[in-house]
Amino acid sequence: AKMSNGSNSENHVKVPKIKFTKLFINGEFVDAVSGKTFETIDPGTGEVIARIAEGDTEDVDLAVKAAREAFDHGKWPRMSGFERGKIIMKFADLIEENAEELAALDSIDAGKLYTSGTAFDLPFTADTFRYYAGASDKIHGETLKMSRALQAYTLREPIGVVGHIIPWNFPSLMFSMKVAPALAAGCTMLLKPAEQTPLSALFFAHLSKLAGIPDGVLNVIPGFGPTAGAAICSHMDIDKVSFTGSTEVGRLVMQAAATSNLKSISLELGGKSPLIIFNDADIDMAVDLALFGILFNKGEICVAGSRVYVQEGIYDEFVKKAAEKARTWVVGDPFDPRSQQGPQAFKKQFEKILSYIEHGKREGATLLTGGNPCGERGYYIEPTIFIDVKEDMKIAREEIFGPVMSLMKFKTMDEAIQRANSTKYGLAAGIVTRDLNVANTVSRSIRAGVIWINCYMAFDKDCPYGGYKMSGFGRDFGLHSLEKYLQVKSVVTPIYNSPW
Ligand code: NAD
Repeated sequence: AKMSNGSNSENHVKVPKIKFTKLFINGEFVDAVSGKTFETIDPGTGEVIARIAEGDTEDVDLAVKAAREAFDHGKWPRMSGFERGKIIMKFADLIEENAEELAALDSIDAGKLYTSGTAFDLPFTADTFRYYAGASDKIHGETLKMSRALQAYTLREPIGVVGHIIPWNFPSLMFSMKVAPALAAGCTMLLKPAEQTPLSALFFAHLSKLAGIPDGVLNVIPGFGPTAGAAICSHMDIDKVSFTGSTEVGRLVMQAAATSNLKSISLELGGKSPLIIFNDADIDMAVDLALFGILFNKGEICVAGSRVYVQEGIYDEFVKKAAEKARTWVVGDPFDPRSQQGPQAFKKQFEKILSYIEHGKREGATLLTGGNPCGERGYYIEPTIFIDVKEDMKIAREEIFGPVMSLMKFKTMDEAIQRANSTKYGLAAGIVTRDLNVANTVSRSIRAGVIWINCYMAFDKDCPYGGYKMSGFGRDFGLHSLEKYLQVKSVVTPIYNSPW
């Protein structure tokens, strides 16, 4: 990999002054009850960006109280969907107006490329709000002619107070993916951003107030998982938790729901997604997809194509081309427009990835390219490709969440399907082939929530997304996501003396 040597000072983008550092409860920015704060760190330099109020159990209680009041007595769940939609649309416009500042906050907080933030994350974030704004007045029930002399209709009502818990890899996009459908459904809520990336969520809180979202409807509580996060999961007055993060913590969320009030939960968890490339593929296109699949957002994406299976006829050529391309990848300052890959989001994540690379070497996989940290400071890692990887190696089984690909050879379609499915995860899969029947057969055979044919990570707000198996349950995006924040009520009346 090449290192770009841009530094913030020589770039056009100015790192914004941090304006919001407190908890957002009932429409106000407030200190934590304990008065505690924590540091948020720039992974490009290892330096502290700001100190943020640290929410804990008491603060979660205050936020739930505000959200409960806004749900039980406030106008948000009671106003027409059309009116809610107009306010959500305004929120989207404000996000768009502030997109550069928000993208810069995600770059400095999470090491995300500023160019991707402005071209992808923030437009996608604003449009996700627009998509659900448009859905908010189209939430209808059904009319049922029952088999007895009864008639019923169903209401789809907001589920109540929602707790959202999100990770650090897409701070803005995750915010919209959770908050927008819940707002559209008429819920009230609190959101806990990841402790590594609280900045954009607090900025969104500020914009939500400007947009006219009533006080108490959306509360933001930065804080740590085992304290603020756990308090949300075990809270008796929260009706639903929508969680995105690791499978390990997903299990804790489920346990806490079970031992508290049996709140509804949905879990978007880890993955170890396969990308299967057949002999008839356009090799250059396939190499580009495979590298994009593992290097986009420095591999810190749950659908990363971390297991790449290449059919034997093109394997050698593929290996050669992938290595050449990975070696020219530009790793560096996320604000430098030449960079293709920024720093890993935080130190622990950086160390975890390097330890997986060591495991790979020790277990006998061959390092084709990369494998080292790079740069003089910050948490940068070279694009890394292993070959001679066996299915039972740790690097082939466990989620690394970094720019580390396991490249493997296969002979037949059936073998590829069997190996692709030999994982506890089931989030996504990719297929590269020109043979429609192969593409269709593999799509139906793989147990994963999303299948990309001749593309990879082709996300959009309109397409549902979520896991099979231990990648979780429930869907984000698309109209399916609304279902998580709604519940169905049946209203039944008798029909007298009707021949019908
Ligand atoms: P994590 O599960 O530790 O953290 C995610 C969130 O959960 C954070 O906000 C954290 O504070 C909170 N949390 C931690 N412990 C908690 C607890 N005991 N109770 C309640 N909340 C708690 O995940 P991570 O390691 O920071 O993030 C990386 C993982 O997230 C990866 O394994 C990745 O697969 C997963 N992820 C999944 C998706 C998806 O959409 N499926 C998206 C991004 C990341």
